Amino acid sequence: PFDMLIVGGGPAGASAAIYAARKGLDTGIVAERFGGQVMDTLAIENLISVVETDGPKLAAALEQHVRAYPVELIKHERVESITPGSPFELRLASGATLRAKSVVLATGARWRDMNVPGEAEYRTKGVTYCPHCDGPLFKGKRVAVIGGGNSGVEAAIDLAGVVGHVTLLEIAPALRADAVLVRKLKSMPNVEIITRARTTEVVGDGQKVVGLRWAHTETKEQNQIEVEGVFVQIGLLPNTRFIKGTVELNGLGEVVVNDRGQTSVPGLFAAGDMTTTPFKQIVVALGDGAKAALGAFEHLIRATAP
Ligand code: FAD
Repeated sequence: PFDMLIVGGGPAGASAAIYAARKGLDTGIVAERFGGQVMDTLAIENLISVVETDGPKLAAALEQHVRAYPVELIKHERVESITPGSPFELRLASGATLRAKSVVLATGARWRDMNVPGEAEYRTKGVTYCPHCDGPLFKGKRVAVIGGGNSGVEAAIDLAGVVGHVTLLEIAPALRADAVLVRKLKSMPNVEIITRARTTEVVGDGQKVVGLRWAHTETKEQNQIEVEGVFVQIGLLPNTRFIKGTVELNGLGEVVVNDRGQTSVPGLFAAGDMTTTPFKQIVVALGDGAKAALGAFEHLIRATAP
């Protein structure tokens, strides 16, 4: 069996693999799509020490760094289930089974999308899911935030300090975020809040976003606002379905980890966007992967002590 198998080839998985290999462990990565969400990203300006890069470039750099070590890289393969034990058994979609003394899960997450016309077409042309990443691109401009939960309201507060004007649209009759956040948002002069608003279309000019159509959920009245950016904040879905029932998840479906990346199953660690670690960012996932690999290494040392 492998000493350590990593499931996922995004920033968290790549980082875990390098840390494991540098400890001399027999290490493998199984990744459906190496690079993960990074592959969907255009400009990356907040990976500290790299002033600017883009997704495909960063994914290639991650792979090059992993390949500098004797890591077995198993690409285009999906893990369907994990059976804890010594060793762990990982069943792949291809039917193969892999065995490992320890496992680091790093399967990431995906943003929930609105599923309306124009959204996919104008993704990265005004439609975005990450205020920390893309807020500065809309400096001085008008933007909409979709979603009045904590992430939507936090995004709107954050953006109001950077962009010209923010319209927050919530489908329910009231915002669902914590009262303290709602109070803060309402105190900001360049923010408008619209409730009972169902987004129906992202409007573009062929090149970029120019507006947003929405319908009142009760009167059905149609409206249009002019915006250059649409920040969709209606939930992040962790890729954890395949381990539901095997390991403890929280209410959002995230794998519960402690400060060493240890899950509820001994020898099973997790890192990055799929976990309870807050703030889903590349730099956070990189650190988290290192932490989980070191946590798993510590576990292996103790498990094999005489
Ligand atoms: P991911 O990157 O999601 O990688 C998950 C990996 O697991 C992939 O290799 C996937 O194929 C694999 N996988 C999933 N399920 C299985 C399975 N069952 N079996 C095998 N493999 C599996 N962050 C920033 O810091 N700066 C930015 O500018 C930025 N821009 C972004 C733009 C977009 C459009 C998006 C979507 C995200 C952006 N983010 C940005 C967030 C950042 O990409 C994530 O926080 C980061 O990629 C998380 O890394 P991860 O390794 O945890 O997961």
